[in-house]
Amino acid sequence: MSKAFNAIEIDNLRKVYVIGAERVVALDRIDLEIRRGEICCLLGPSGSGKSTLLNMIAGLEKPTRGKIDVLGESISSMGETRLAKFRQRRMGFVFQAYNLLPSLTAIENVSLPLMFRGVGRRRRRRAALEMLDMVGLRSHAKHKPTQMSGGQQQRIGIARAFVSDAPIILADEPTGNLDSKTAAEVMSLIIERARMHGQTLLIVTHDSRIAEYADRVVHIFDGRVAKIENNISGEVEQGAWSDDAREPFDAAEQSTLESWPEQGALESDGAHASELEDDIFDAHDANDAHDATDATDATDANDATDATDAYDAYDATDANDAYDANDAYDANDATDTYDA
Ligand code: ADP
Repeated sequence: MSKAFNAIEIDNLRKVYVIGAERVVALDRIDLEIRRGEICCLLGPSGSGKSTLLNMIAGLEKPTRGKIDVLGESISSMGETRLAKFRQRRMGFVFQAYNLLPSLTAIENVSLPLMFRGVGRRRRRRAALEMLDMVGLRSHAKHKPTQMSGGQQQRIGIARAFVSDAPIILADEPTGNLDSKTAAEVMSLIIERARMHGQTLLIVTHDSRIAEYADRVVHIFDGRVAKIENNISGEVEQGAWSDDAREPFDAAEQSTLESWPEQGALESDGAHASELEDDIFDAHDANDAHDATDATDATDANDATDATDAYDAYDATDANDAYDANDAYDANDATDTYDA
């Protein structure tokens, strides 16, 4: 398959976490290509490395070894500022725990990605309302997340992921907190929207029922690709996992690990927008029931004053209505094939 058709290319990827004296090989020798417009599912049991892979595709973590290209750009070697911009323009995110900012209304939450991109208030509002229509929640535009059910919150999360028409949508266990009927509704929404707009959709799940929605299912087991099922052609491709035995550590890798700073969630650009963006990713951690130390993050994420202040402060720049200027920038950005 020609590179031009690939949205994501992963080459010999390896990720090792170091916790004190212990090393965890979360992913090893992953080679994978995901085509533009493809709906692909990463399926595997808990702890198999799915989220780690998704985080690295999003540029939230750096590989220990190997390379990831997203839309022809090397995401694994980009600096933080460029990465943040790349994500804003190219990626939409759906999280298991929705990650809506609790102090903002539904319409404000949905319009956040457009705010990060400098789109002005009126146009943001129009686009957000359109998305609320799409998910059937226009009547809830002024509701805060706590005034909505889980299914409704995830619909808002979906509206937020799709509002900026990003070419790639990454969804991490999008139905993990929903009952099966709501899960099916939410999946139909995501799939329909992605297909209609030709977006590449990558879904992480441990639920084989969710995998049925995908064009291809990449089975991850023990940090490796076990097999790839093509739901359209019925073909099954065996992965490398079966010949297993993870590579041993060597001295060179040890020194790489020591020199590589661990990446956290999005690092700040120093602007209000990135503070809010951090909050979205932090909220994800905060809702991670496995990690007790995240209790403080939960408090931060729920700090209504902070989020509203940041939103309002950023919004204030709209007095000069900057959005048209930003649109002109998009249209003239030669590297920006999607906006052109
Ligand atoms: P999954 O998404 O399939 O449940 P993960 O990608 O979350 O799996 O985890 C894969 C492996 O990497 C697990 O053994 C997990 O404990 C480990 N791991 C994930 N994130 C970290 C981290 N930040 N620090 C140390 N180990 C981690």
